[in-house]
Amino acid sequence: MRTNIGFAFVIHLLAATVLVCAISPAASDEGSRDDAIWKWTPEEISKLVSKVRAGRDLSPESWPGGARVAVSFSFDVDTEPVWIGMQGQSSPSYMSRGEYGARTAQPRVLALLKKHKIPASFFLPAMTMELHPELIPELLKHPQHEIGFHSYVHENPMHLTAAEERQVYEKAMEIFVKHVGRRPVGFRSAAWDLTESTIQIVKEMGFLYESSMMADERPYMLMAEGKETGLIELPVEWILDDWPLFQISWPVGHVAIRNAEDVLSIWKGEFDVAYEEGTLYMLTLHPQVIGHRYRIKMLDELIAYMKRKRGVWFATHESIARHVKEQAGL
Ligand SMILES: [Zn+2]
Repeated sequence: MRTNIGFAFVIHLLAATVLVCAISPAASDEGSRDDAIWKWTPEEISKLVSKVRAGRDLSPESWPGGARVAVSFSFDVDTEPVWIGMQGQSSPSYMSRGEYGARTAQPRVLALLKKHKIPASFFLPAMTMELHPELIPELLKHPQHEIGFHSYVHENPMHLTAAEERQVYEKAMEIFVKHVGRRPVGFRSAAWDLTESTIQIVKEMGFLYESSMMADERPYMLMAEGKETGLIELPVEWILDDWPLFQISWPVGHVAIRNAEDVLSIWKGEFDVAYEEGTLYMLTLHPQVIGHRYRIKMLDELIAYMKRKRGVWFATHESIARHVKEQAGL
């Protein structure tokens, strides 16, 4: 797994070229297609697109306590696995970026949530739990927070067959239960990538909700092959994620160190409209990204801004999914 930036960059360019030239929609046990997408018929492309779709809107009639908007923060505590599993890095410098997330940033995040007395959802790869077992008792001391499922080592499922994907989630689940003492109800895929098999596996593993898709800003029913799956989708979005706005990820040529003030204005603007529309506002954050000193101050300011409005329900993803499920009579 030894690599360097130049080599990794070339590999990513090659990978990108392969993706653009020949979409092979995840490895599958039946074998994936590797002919160019332009050779496919409209029916074949429509079939590909329809594998997983957004179903009915599951916005509840009202949020608890008559709140106008539901606000939920998730913290994906990716630490080292995001660099190992996603980018094939092993340099101690990359590892230290992950270590920063557990060692320096996570306590800041928890202190901020405590200050504002708001709950949040934490999604941890199983390998984060193995590398930083001390994070779990600390989270369990605050039962208002949720701990969700987030892969084994932040592996991208698009590179796996259905059988491998199931195998790796089962391995991750064993580690999760060993550390947390119970099974999670929330599933978030690594890198928000899903294969055509993911939803079926997630459903069979008994999850209540999925949170990696982007077809709406409101909660919705996930459809697979045209049928309701019973899984609730709590959708995410890259503009409501700190990674593309702040994080440097050299191998994909992505450099984004925005001013915290710019990002505050994006996130406030998104919140204002969510408030007007009376819907759902979900922010995805990573301790190793948001936990830097002046960014956490910005987050503090954003939460204070939201709290100044009436009728804002701060909740975990789990509480939102349970409310949505009950209101929809599922
Ligand atoms: Zn992640």
